[in-house]
Amino acid sequence: MRPHLSFRRSGKNAGTAFLQQNRINLHPLLFKQNQQAFLEEVIPHEVSHLLVWTLFGRVKPHGNEWQSIMIEVFGCEAKTTHSFDIKAVTNTVAYSCDCSEHALSMRRHKSIITGTRYRCRKCNTELSQN
Ligand SMILES: [Zn+2]
Ligand SMILES: [Zn+2]
Repeated sequence: MRPHLSFRRSGKNAGTAFLQQNRINLHPLLFKQNQQAFLEEVIPHEVSHLLVWTLFGRVKPHGNEWQSIMIEVFGCEAKTTHSFDIKAVTNTVAYSCDCSEHALSMRRHKSIITGTRYRCRKCNTELSQN
């Protein structure tokens, strides 16, 4: 039985396996920005969780069973975390100047709200929120 796929924002998780529902949820924004990584890492990772659940029931989430499915079924490295930085994508605010877009950290965003001004180093216009 093929797992169902859903695309909902769920915190900072790139993907989440819902074992009882046979469903994998993918973070829509992260999926859009990291499709290759999703196909190579996130989806095999989460499908392996579903397979472990179906085949072995309640065992350690990233234990031997999960690792051997990752390696033998998907030919993936059995890494428990994903290689792209989820924080970098979700904890930024989009600003723009006259020449490009800038992804500002929450820290800089907060200091702009309290009055700090940032200028683009290239075109020297003040950054404004999109
Ligand atoms: Zn996992
Ligand atoms: Zn600029």
